[in-house]
Amino acid sequence: MTLVLANLIDGHAQAPRAGRYLDVSEPAVGAAFARCPDSDASDVDAAVEAARRAAAGWAATAPEQRAQHLNRLADLVERELDALAELESRNCGKPVALARSLDIPRAVANLRFFAAAITQWAGESHATDDATLNYTLRQPLGVVACISPWNLPLYLFTWKIAPALAAGNAVVSKPSEVTPCTAARLGELAVEAGFPPGVLNIVHGHGAGVGQALVEHAQVKAISFTGSTRTGAAIAAAAAPKFKKLSLELGGKNPAIVFADADLSDADLDTIVRSGFANQGEICLCGSRLLVERSFYETFKRRYLERVRALRVGDPREAGVDLGALVSRAHYDKVVGCIERARAEGGTILCGGAPLRVDGRCADGWFVAPTVIEGLANDSATNQDEIFGPVVCLIPFDGEDEAVALANQSGYGLAASLWTGGLDRAHRVAARLETGIVWINCWLVRDLRTPFGGVKNSGVGREGGVEALRFFTDAKNVCLRLR
Ligand code: NAD
Repeated sequence: MTLVLANLIDGHAQAPRAGRYLDVSEPAVGAAFARCPDSDASDVDAAVEAARRAAAGWAATAPEQRAQHLNRLADLVERELDALAELESRNCGKPVALARSLDIPRAVANLRFFAAAITQWAGESHATDDATLNYTLRQPLGVVACISPWNLPLYLFTWKIAPALAAGNAVVSKPSEVTPCTAARLGELAVEAGFPPGVLNIVHGHGAGVGQALVEHAQVKAISFTGSTRTGAAIAAAAAPKFKKLSLELGGKNPAIVFADADLSDADLDTIVRSGFANQGEICLCGSRLLVERSFYETFKRRYLERVRALRVGDPREAGVDLGALVSRAHYDKVVGCIERARAEGGTILCGGAPLRVDGRCADGWFVAPTVIEGLANDSATNQDEIFGPVVCLIPFDGEDEAVALANQSGYGLAASLWTGGLDRAHRVAARLETGIVWINCWLVRDLRTPFGGVKNSGVGREGGVEALRFFTDAKNVCLRLR
């Protein structure tokens, strides 16, 4: 039976006004299994109007009350963890074990984190001199838009709506049309959790239709967006004439830098492999340029390739599978095309390099073998463009300066990981890297209190902790003359 999703507007499940739907695929079998609203501007108008009506009431609630709602929603997501993980895996193609251990627990953590954060957050006040008192009010913006991508659907959806709601805003959100299922279920759970109607609205559909209407809507005061650099630029252009507040988390072409002094354990090597291939390489933080110090290059390559070759690609429902299917036919075609381009550029394929057929139920799924390439310059198209799939290039370097130069020779600047036994070197290199995040001897370790975001074409603004609460509020300075 086909799953038919609805928009959430004003606390009710609503069909799209024009009655149009989009097919939603199960990548592992290469066929549609659900339909989601192909909404238009009239649905966006209704959602924004519901949010506008709800905004003042929600803003006036005590932080503790908003925290209670978020915690109740977290409880419900936790209650449904297995079902949500299965749905996420089915819709994205990712291994169900990953959805169960990463995506859904992180959604719970996001909701609980911002519930706690808002109860601990206060404005600042200070007497500037004997005659005046200054204090700063942090006021919610009103109606805000949250637009999220397909790679970590519920994880990133909640990463945005949780701080927006905690800070007292009414939200109109648009999940990716490619992976709308878990957000739709979350909307039902938000109703069950008792959120007042209109406080959280979800409108499904294409970016060019719904997303753009939302960005351009006069009542929408801020846009929190995670997605591609290209879409981020379009959103920034549309938002600029109206001076909307923007947070843009965009693409990456992240370097992992391995120095010869790294003294890598087997567990370290497993992490480096994971940093390239987790979630089929479909994480903005994956390291796709693996820079290795030349004196250690051959030894590293041997140990690394052994592990990559041992990765299991298969039915995402099966235990022990490391990589599932790519999210869509279009994305699969893009990744396969990038591998062909790497060959044409003169790259040597060390492993993988082709689509992969998985027998049985997944025979028509969109699988690509984990691919490692060497012999391409850092300024080749392969090493400059985001591929966002299971493709990693090995690049040798000589010394610290060249490592930093190669790492920074990129239009992107999201994250880097660096592997070294040298304490001084670790801090020196971290400070010189043009990225928003640096992991030293680890990867994707996240403390939700820390700022998250990129520089250059990887975005503007920071999410996480107090940065997200700042984004979703305006600061108002109040100055009182002490008579
Ligand atoms: P995308 O830009 O195609 O779409 C993201 C969202 O924007 C979707 O909901 C889409 O419908 C919507 N959208 C598309 N066009 C729009 C428009 N004109 N106006 C408003 N909304 C519009 O990105 P994607 O393919 O879904 O996701 C993959 C990309 O996301 C990769 O580039 C990846 O690096 C990036 N990403 C970045 C981060 C980060 O934190 N920096 C995290 C995850 C993914």
